[in-house]
Amino acid sequence: MTSTGEVRRIGLTEPVWWGWGPASEHEPLPDEARGLLARLGIPVRPTAPVGLAQVRLPPARLPAAARDALAAIVGLGHVHTHDEARIRHCRGRSTTDLLRLRAGDASAAPDAVVLPADHDEVLAVLRLASRERIAVVPFGGGTSVVGGLEPARPAEQPVVALDLARLDALGRVDRESGTVELGAGLRGPRAAALLAEHGLTLGHIPQSWEYATIGGFAATRSSGQASGGYGRFDDLVVGLRVATPVGSWELGRAPASAAGPDLRELMLGSEGAFGVITQVVARVRPLPARRIFEGWSVPDFATGTRLLRTLAAADLRPTVCRLSDETETVGGLARPPRPGGPAVAIGTGTAEAAQNAAQNAAQNTAQDPAQGGCHLVTGYEGVGSVVERRAAEVAGVLLAGGARRLDAAAGPDWERGRFRAPYLRDALLDLGIFAETLETAGFWATLPALYAGVRDALAGSLSAMGLSPVVMCHISHLYETGASLYFTVVCAQGEDPIGSWRAAKGAAGDAIVAAGGTITHHHAVGTEHRPWLGAEIGDLGVDVLRAVKRTLDPAGILNPGILVG
Ligand SMILES: Cc1cc2nc3c(=O)[nH]c(=O)nc-3n(C[C@H](O)[C@H](O)[C@H](O)COP(=O)(O)OP(=O)(O)OC[C@H]3O[C@@H](n4cnc5c(N)ncnc54)[C@H](O)[C@@H]3O)c2cc1C
Repeated sequence: MTSTGEVRRIGLTEPVWWGWGPASEHEPLPDEARGLLARLGIPVRPTAPVGLAQVRLPPARLPAAARDALAAIVGLGHVHTHDEARIRHCRGRSTTDLLRLRAGDASAAPDAVVLPADHDEVLAVLRLASRERIAVVPFGGGTSVVGGLEPARPAEQPVVALDLARLDALGRVDRESGTVELGAGLRGPRAAALLAEHGLTLGHIPQSWEYATIGGFAATRSSGQASGGYGRFDDLVVGLRVATPVGSWELGRAPASAAGPDLRELMLGSEGAFGVITQVVARVRPLPARRIFEGWSVPDFATGTRLLRTLAAADLRPTVCRLSDETETVGGLARPPRPGGPAVAIGTGTAEAAQNAAQNAAQNTAQDPAQGGCHLVTGYEGVGSVVERRAAEVAGVLLAGGARRLDAAAGPDWERGRFRAPYLRDALLDLGIFAETLETAGFWATLPALYAGVRDALAGSLSAMGLSPVVMCHISHLYETGASLYFTVVCAQGEDPIGSWRAAKGAAGDAIVAAGGTITHHHAVGTEHRPWLGAEIGDLGVDVLRAVKRTLDPAGILNPGILVG
């Protein structure tokens, strides 16, 4: 017997194994986008993924005795060694991960997929793996884009993916304190649905929300689109239950504490290298009574950036705030959201959004974003009067700063289409076009130089390879002291797309360090960002992380080579 979680993960109706989402949600690239690519001189070279049967896997290295011992812990039906399970747990969902899978390369596939039912089974698996020197990759939604699921280990060492899908329960709901216990394996939509039954929400909506899990959010310090209102995921974590190879660890017993350094912080962002998060105690909020999404046009990216800084300094951050640069504004116009509406609905407010749209239309002059400038989306969620007051105050700052309100559909259109980008990437890959993202953050004082440095590094490096890159950027997470920058690159694939991207990303990483930004604002370190970790936290910082790993994982079986070596 398999659990619902397992069927959800392993079953054939699941997301396509080579890309994002179920096949039913896939659609060809819109004509507008094809036209834009042609104008930019990016050649189209249609390529299809190989068939599942053509995927090349390494021979399984897990000894039969170890497999039987794992089965004795989790049950025979919860240890999978068949090809599809191994392929579905091979690496994450970066573009280089997808390119390799589409080409039939599953050389990094785990030898087995193990699905424990609870915290104690996770502990038992880790004890066994430590004894037998089996590498263990904690596996949430499998959406890592930084190589966080591809450990570096000796070729002969067996490796298992520890899929947490069965840890999918909503535990205690403490209404008085506003906290809930969430199983680490709960995906975004399921967690939202369970909380909605209690009139509650996490408000954590990353673009990978459809598949990413609660444990993954914590392990990578994820940040969602509504971070301005609800906070990053690490802001929401009140407590953690962790299984480590040397025992259980419970962290967080009060809203604040001076009992030494906050050890929850050691697990947030630990990327499965120190232990397996089995449960998160999270702060929750009531489902919003009112939601408003608006679209704006600002004269240029520099002006828009200054306006966002003014908002942040005045404690006027919208719940959602996304400022596209000039290139992304034009690119966005070429990929309108699907007319059919959202692939996924979150929470409430569709009728209300329509009402807002009508109100806005009555109050304001519609503007055509094609007139130039940069696109800005602002969104507000919460109690009606508070939301309306904040929207009005923000509008005051934006209008005074030269922003123009777009037509009433602009904000809701963005909201409807906000989960489409990963599907669009599959459509681009089908045409042999490369698309990938990278992100960073910096203080306001360094942000313009950081923006220019990374953009130029990406564009310069890919142009030198003759790949006609389009480099777009947006700001989507605001802080009093600075903001994040999120770059999207679209270019020709050329002969060696993986090698070209590694070179371009290397140049961007160096530019980030040179401009004083962080190597990652929310994607985490994985293996891809490790070369720059020392530059960011110092050799001493890396030594501290290594010491923590030695203490919690003395046999070094957890995610070898990820975060720290
Ligand atoms: C299309 C797309 C859009 C994305 N958008 C966003 C975004 O908007 N914001 C954002 O922050 N990120 C985003 N990401 C990155 C990714 O989704 C996040 O890092 C997410 O938090 C990973 O969650 P997951 O459950 O998929 O974890 P996985 O990918 O399964 O794992 C990520 C890392 O954490 C470890 N891990 C997973 N679960 C646990 C656990 N329970 N205990 C210990 N370690 C664990 C894994 O071993 C791995 O190293 C995006 C990725 C994609 C592909």
